[in-house]
Amino acid sequence: MAQLVYSSKINKIRSFALILIFAGILLMYGGILTKKIEWLMVTFFILGVIMVVLSCVVYLWIGTLSLKAVPIVCPNCEKPTKMLGRVDACMHCKQPLTLDKNLEGKEFDEKYNTRKYKKELKSQQKNKDN
Ligand SMILES: [Zn+2]
Repeated sequence: MAQLVYSSKINKIRSFALILIFAGILLMYGGILTKKIEWLMVTFFILGVIMVVLSCVVYLWIGTLSLKAVPIVCPNCEKPTKMLGRVDACMHCKQPLTLDKNLEGKEFDEKYNTRKYKKELKSQQKNKDN
């Protein structure tokens, strides 16, 4: 069975903002390298500044999102994490989490069943060995 690997939404947005900052800095560095060609330097700088400003906006957005996010303790790794929306993943162990009880039932039931199934298989094998 293919298992979906969820990544925490906040972590995703955070890495996006980080990439934006690096891209902005790289563009400004490109501007320094091309300072002999004035229009190119200006374009690189403007693009770089826009990207850095954008990433600041994204960071602010994460801040407000974090306030809205529900702080919970991950049932898998027992570390405190925050979740956005109905379904999200743990920031530490990528454990899929849900606030929707209907979904919770289904998703966790499946996992529980597979674990139980494995345990049953093991105990059956032990019985056979005995
Ligand atoms: Zn976790």
